[in-house]
Amino acid sequence: MSTPFESPAAQFAVSAVREASQLVRRVQAEMVTEAISKEDKSPVTVADFAAQAVVAHRLQQWDPAAVLVGEESASALREESGRATLAQITQFVASVVPEATSDAVCDWIDRGDVEPPAEFWTLDPVDGTKGFLRGDQYAVAFALVKNGRVEIGALGCPELEDAANPAKGGRGSLVIAVRGAGVRTQPLDDPDAPWTELKVADVAAAADARMLRSVEKAHTDTGGIGALVSKLGVTADPVPLDSQAKYAVLAAGGGDVLLRLLSPSRPDYREKIWDQAAGSIVVEEAGGRVSDLDGKPLDFSHGRTLAANRGVLATNGPLHDAFLAGLKAIDA
Ligand code: AMP
Ligand code: MG
Repeated sequence: MSTPFESPAAQFAVSAVREASQLVRRVQAEMVTEAISKEDKSPVTVADFAAQAVVAHRLQQWDPAAVLVGEESASALREESGRATLAQITQFVASVVPEATSDAVCDWIDRGDVEPPAEFWTLDPVDGTKGFLRGDQYAVAFALVKNGRVEIGALGCPELEDAANPAKGGRGSLVIAVRGAGVRTQPLDDPDAPWTELKVADVAAAADARMLRSVEKAHTDTGGIGALVSKLGVTADPVPLDSQAKYAVLAAGGGDVLLRLLSPSRPDYREKIWDQAAGSIVVEEAGGRVSDLDGKPLDFSHGRTLAANRGVLATNGPLHDAFLAGLKAIDA
């Protein structure tokens, strides 16, 4: 009997994320060298655009009517000043899609530069760009959204050995969640390997909650997290990690709570849909809970951001209410 994981859409998500993840890992290996300066963001630029071009092209081949909402647009690449970067991107894209030309690459990328309709796929081609440049965790995140709700989510995490182990330098993991069917993982480079089901940990006491935290302080409110930790008496060591790899680790029981508080420098920041779609279904299908900081479900029907939600709280489930109460108490 075929399972929901064998549906054409789920299989497409797996193959597209696998191909894009392997491509961005290759860009990283070839371009993030000892010699590059810390200010040089070109490897992540090349990886981001190349991955979006490939996924957009594969989606168009698989279902010409499907809509992609991607993080990137090709407008800067179409300028004279973007020509050299576009040539590099096209070379990487052509390594997997031989017919790629610079014009086609720009057109494929721009397929993702749209406002979301009722049903769409959304892509973060390289989530956790700072992690990518540092040689830490990063992810390719891809999800299918229908009427405001995520139905399929796939994460490619090229540095993750397996989802329960957040250490960098792993062989790479692929994670796929299908609404109502669960979430499972497989080594990134072995499509024939058996799948392993993911399940959140059953930690129930706030003191024992292992918090999955951003490495980049500017992406969150470190003061707010400090206040929450002392309010709830959390004593467990936090797990610092870049990107939506955090959601895969939470789903596998390698951590228990993930917060996206609003940074005091950006109080009006609203989460981008591609930063939360795949990760949120991965946690939910592993038995966890995801809401905004007020306890409301994430609503993916408000354009390219989660305009109707403030921040994100993702937990293993049993810890959710205690953390919502803690957030209210510290007025986060
Ligand atoms: P992390 O890997 O946890 O540092 O999160 C990376 C994500 O943070 C990126 O995908 C960005 O879209 C997002 N981000 C960028 N600026 C902000 C901000 N001011 N507040 C919250 N998230 C941000
Ligand atoms: Mg991102």
